[in-house]
Amino acid sequence: MKQISRRSFLRTAISAGAATAAGCVTVNFKQDYIDAHVHVWTPDTAKYPLASGMTKGGCVDSFTPEQLFAHCKHEGVDRIVLIQMSFYKFDNSYMLYAIAKHPGVFSGVAIVNEHETGVSQRMKDLAKQGVRGFRICAGKEKDLEKWLGSPGMAEMWKTAADEGLSICPLINPDTLPLIDKMCVKYPRTSVVIDHFSRVGMTGSILRTDLDQLLQLSKHPHVHVKTSAFYALGKKQAPYLDLGPMIRECRNHFGAQRLMWASDCPFQVVSGHNYHDSIALIRDRLDFLSVEDKEWMLRRTAEKVFWA
Ligand SMILES: [Zn+2]
Repeated sequence: MKQISRRSFLRTAISAGAATAAGCVTVNFKQDYIDAHVHVWTPDTAKYPLASGMTKGGCVDSFTPEQLFAHCKHEGVDRIVLIQMSFYKFDNSYMLYAIAKHPGVFSGVAIVNEHETGVSQRMKDLAKQGVRGFRICAGKEKDLEKWLGSPGMAEMWKTAADEGLSICPLINPDTLPLIDKMCVKYPRTSVVIDHFSRVGMTGSILRTDLDQLLQLSKHPHVHVKTSAFYALGKKQAPYLDLGPMIRECRNHFGAQRLMWASDCPFQVVSGHNYHDSIALIRDRLDFLSVEDKEWMLRRTAEKVFWA
């Protein structure tokens, strides 16, 4: 008898909703989720050194794939998008090692130096190793217009469009108008905004900030990560105060352009935990339909990072 994989069995079970409701199939939509944003690193700084001048700061000393699995497997998350950790800067080798060591489990978002010549080729080389996106961080950039206006940045946005890769900005709301301009200039480039562009990081969700984020929905290739709940609004589980912001994002972007992510390990320290992050989207917001959740918990990330 032909064996079907657990994944295809689950998909069958989901699509056979009527059969599920009738009790013919006992498996419900509980597995096969994708977490679209996790950082991993190793305590082995001899083999994988931190970038010059960088420290692990207040971060835990170790967050390996195995440590991640201990949190996410219990919640039915079996694929994860790894985001290059800042203290490794442009050396993506530990992330690439993790991708290679766990075939089919990880996709990757790398960091490249846009001021180095050959950035386009570097992106293509990384894409061959499982990378599907490139993180750009406003960070301590003083002149944001100059940062986004550099020739290297132009090359990155163009290459991403040509190669079916994504640009993933980690920004504060004040950078949203500039990202809007980039999206006008590079309309074919897929963009994935991290953590609602940190709307609510100061403790309150400002209407003007959220409106600027929602404005980006007019660009069809812009996606938003509904993520980092520990860091936004009241910063307190069960994070229900973020519900109205998630609802507005769903209404403007559609669930097909939203993806849930934990931002581990930061979601599993300081009294927060993994369950509360996924549970907000999966179990706690009654305005999200079953189909919305399917997109936010798997299909959007699959489309963007596993295509
Ligand atoms: Zn992060």
